[in-house]
Amino acid sequence: MSAGGDRVLIDAGLSYRALRRRLDGVNVDPDALRAVLITHAHVDHVRGAAMLSRKHGIRIHATAAAREAWGKGADKVAGWESLAAGRPVAFGVLRFVPFGVSHDADETLGFRVETPEGAIGFATDVGQITDDLVARSSDCRMLVMESNHAVELLRVSPYAPSVRSRIGGDGGHLSNEALAAFIREHLGGQVQCIVLAHLSRINNVPALAELICREALTAAGRSDVRVVVAGQDRPTPTIALEALAPPGVARPAHRARQVALPFGSASAQA
Ligand SMILES: [Zn+2]
Ligand SMILES: [Zn+2]
Repeated sequence: MSAGGDRVLIDAGLSYRALRRRLDGVNVDPDALRAVLITHAHVDHVRGAAMLSRKHGIRIHATAAAREAWGKGADKVAGWESLAAGRPVAFGVLRFVPFGVSHDADETLGFRVETPEGAIGFATDVGQITDDLVARSSDCRMLVMESNHAVELLRVSPYAPSVRSRIGGDGGHLSNEALAAFIREHLGGQVQCIVLAHLSRINNVPALAELICREALTAAGRSDVRVVVAGQDRPTPTIALEALAPPGVARPAHRARQVALPFGSASAQA
């Protein structure tokens, strides 16, 4: 997240080398990062954080529970700042309001990020949509939301049954379908862009996640909203809030696309 020359990372789940490459790709000098804010201490969110902190003197903002659960590498962190739900933290014109989300790490956070151009809702590990999440995102211009798995792909997943029920449970990860229900029922009128995040490589297909999201937007009368699918293996394009079209401006209709599913043709499933 960047505004007015201040830059802050939310999570650092890639290796240090990969993080450096990604930052180089968007011309961000790691020495210029103001902070790394940690949603929770699962490894896919903290892998490169300690090394990034140590090499560049960046302070890590984390809840007491995340710091406790950090494990290996915690001693390498250059400096800790405490983070807690309901206690905003600001860097120049960027203001982060952390709030609790339903996930199976203690004190997992989402963020409402307030900027001079409007607010961004950020929630990447959310087992279920809560009233609080709906309220925090109601007037956001952009949402970065988890679209982790397709319910049907998780059902036939190679994962062990216990892992499947963890992922699909209220303290696990949000499905394409649950995000679609949120869009149909609760999408704020100011939203101009949704970034689909934290997609499973095994239990989801990017084109399917996008299709389900677009169908929900159409059902909600909001096909003007831009949809961006974030992937683990490539950087997501930079999105400038000030460049987004105002709500209600229709975009050209997207052509129907064939969605390639990993389990063969639709007729084969019947
Ligand atoms: Zn997690
Ligand atoms: Zn995660």
